[in-house]
Amino acid sequence: MFCKYCGNEITQDDNFCSSCGNKLKDDLISQYDNTDSMSIGWGILGFFIPVAGLVLFLVWQNSKPNSAKAAGIGALIGLIVSVICYIALLFLFFIFFIYNLSYYSVLI
Ligand SMILES: [Zn+2]
Repeated sequence: MFCKYCGNEITQDDNFCSSCGNKLKDDLISQYDNTDSMSIGWGILGFFIPVAGLVLFLVWQNSKPNSAKAAGIGALIGLIVSVICYIALLFLFFIFFIYNLSYYSVLI
């Protein structure tokens, strides 16, 4: 490949052009980010379907780190929220059970 500023031949690993000194990596990074967007969407998907988020996280870990992270975090939050809901439900059942028990014991 060639430097887009001066046309000097450069390698893909070069951060700066050896001839004109311009930064070469900016374009590569922005291209990479464009192909790895939709992070919020994958996060929401992971939130509602934690299993799918976890699978996407494992599949994309190397090829799409941003999407993988979003899906993984979404899955984690979704999982935590569902666990909290489950515990809250159990707690409510427990309270309800205790309340009924004391209610009936007062009647008796
Ligand atoms: Zn150059």
